[in-house]
Amino acid sequence: MTAELACFEERCRARYPITEVIYNCPRCGALLEAVYGKPAQPAEELKTLWRARRTSNAPLDQSGVWRYREFLPFLDSYDAVVTVAAVLALIAYGSTIRHWRPKHLITVVALIAVLCAFGFVLNKSMKWADQRIGPRLFQLEEKGPS
Ligand SMILES: [Zn+2]
Repeated sequence: MTAELACFEERCRARYPITEVIYNCPRCGALLEAVYGKPAQPAEELKTLWRARRTSNAPLDQSGVWRYREFLPFLDSYDAVVTVAAVLALIAYGSTIRHWRPKHLITVVALIAVLCAFGFVLNKSMKWADQRIGPRLFQLEEKGPS
């Protein structure tokens, strides 16, 4: 089974190796999607294999992703899946950082400011409610159902 990245734009449909860390088509700028060839095994054989892995104790078989590894034909060996996954995450994260611009930092600072303001207002309103409503609820609780 093969896997490639394909341009989402119908007029372009350029293809790139699945190992490329790119999100947009270098030719036209449209988004890319992962496309897969047909698996080598027949569907019934794959279903049987995946069902059998459900009862396996191997970490790779217990993974909700790697149990279906026939559809993830990126690796020659699955011995270092965790390490490879961590490295891929670092590469993906690193490429995100490389594309950061000052406007992203401003957005993050603005979001943090909004969250702080929301927390401040929430804290004030909770204190207000505790002071105003709390004693009345206590009175009602003392009085019991009427
Ligand atoms: Zn394209």
